[in-house]
Amino acid sequence: MKKNIILFKNNLRVNDNPVLKAASFESLLLPVYIHDESYKTKKLGSASLYFLYHSLKSLSKSLDYKLQFFKGDTCQILTQLVKEHNIECIYVEEFFDREEIDFFDKLKSTLYKINVKLKIINSQLLWNPKNILKDDNTPYKVFSPFYKRKCIFITPEFPVGQVSELNFIDSKLYNDIDSLSLLSKYPWYKKFDQQYDISENGALDILSNFIIEKIHNYKVGRDYPGEYFNSKLSPFIRFGLLSINRIWHEVNSLPESPSRNHYLSELGWREFSYYQLYHFPEMAKKNLQNKFDNYEWENDMEYFEAWKMGNTGYPFVDAGMRELWKTGFMHNRLRMIVASFLVKNLQIDWRLGEEWFWDCLIDADYASNVAGWQWAAGTGVDAAPYFRIFNPILQGKKFDAEGKYIKTYIPEISSLDIKTLHEPWTQNHGLDYPKPIIDFKQSRNKALSLYSSL
Ligand code: FAD
Repeated sequence: MKKNIILFKNNLRVNDNPVLKAASFESLLLPVYIHDESYKTKKLGSASLYFLYHSLKSLSKSLDYKLQFFKGDTCQILTQLVKEHNIECIYVEEFFDREEIDFFDKLKSTLYKINVKLKIINSQLLWNPKNILKDDNTPYKVFSPFYKRKCIFITPEFPVGQVSELNFIDSKLYNDIDSLSLLSKYPWYKKFDQQYDISENGALDILSNFIIEKIHNYKVGRDYPGEYFNSKLSPFIRFGLLSINRIWHEVNSLPESPSRNHYLSELGWREFSYYQLYHFPEMAKKNLQNKFDNYEWENDMEYFEAWKMGNTGYPFVDAGMRELWKTGFMHNRLRMIVASFLVKNLQIDWRLGEEWFWDCLIDADYASNVAGWQWAAGTGVDAAPYFRIFNPILQGKKFDAEGKYIKTYIPEISSLDIKTLHEPWTQNHGLDYPKPIIDFKQSRNKALSLYSSL
């Protein structure tokens, strides 16, 4: 039998994994994970490392504890394994960010020299960005035509199901998962332990509960953070515990409805984020609209600290930031509101906010995070216009009318009557909650006048 390596990266599952299916076909398999960030500008953030650690543990269990863990230089480690085990081919998922693409191109030629093939298979996206272009062969810059005129007419690959039998190469276990040192010494992450079942079964349970109980009300309910009609699947999608093709086809097979279509279009936004990063890799660092390049952000670090800790004095903003801190997650509406507040009202460079999210989110995703921030800042290609400045007071009153979300994350003000809860500075309540760090109206007018002169 042939001997193959499957190199796991961001798709840490055995179900619906086209790479695993191809690698294991009539072959003996050595499943490998290498923690190698040497070629990456952006190392994984703390919350991601936590999620990665548990995803790998779960994958290892699903692979009968045959998953091999390494830390270090991918090329060296693979070359060594190829020699030791007489490997014919290495299988890996396809990448869509430039650093990974370049790295695996180089690896391919190194392996070629020692007569080993590298097979790259897409298991990350519904539509490969390479294949989606406008009629004039240039990339789309606006979501609607990308999704509605192109993608939606191309049926994504059907999920490949589970491989019936896996045959492993007889090998010692080289290292233990803890040798990767993914978790920090200070156990701050203990607070997450009770909150998530980080496993493929955990992800499948969330998907089926969402389909049974929530999706019917997704279109409206997705904006109300106290009710949570969203799927909360993003970290499982980010680390590939659940295949995007499976989600798409399960949801798409439901009777047509505005909620079903809306959910599919949100998966489309994820595709569009990867698409943008693939075609415009500079967006990871640079404003996509270069008129912002000379903009002088104020970057007041006291404001930044208050924002990070959820102490701005605006309850809806603070509840969002505290949800992030407590759970490693934040509801989408809040992500838009806190991002707008940081960039437009506090005049802080979106890249600082992006970094904070990157470190704190368990679903921190290179493409979706950058695209989300450029959208919120108004610097992206298909972004919120500069004059769209979310008003956190009105947003709170509209989308958290009963204050359920605010009370969950800022319990110290939960005794306030509902009107005061949204604007606590209007009463002398004596509670331990900060006064607003800026005046919303003034900061809004200032942002509008600065942006309109660009
Ligand atoms: P649902 O509403 O259930 O949506 C289903 C899935 O669709 C999500 O799990 C996600 O994979 C995808 N999705 C939904 N909305 C978006 C969107 N606007 N852009 C891209 N994909 C989307 N998402 C991440 O996965 N990782 C990030 O690091 C990230 N950073 C963001 C930063 C900012 C400033 C903003 C405004 C948005 C960001 N998003 C990010 C997008 C979005 O907020 C999350 O995907 C969503 O909140 C996840 O919750 P959910 O799984 O309940 O989503």
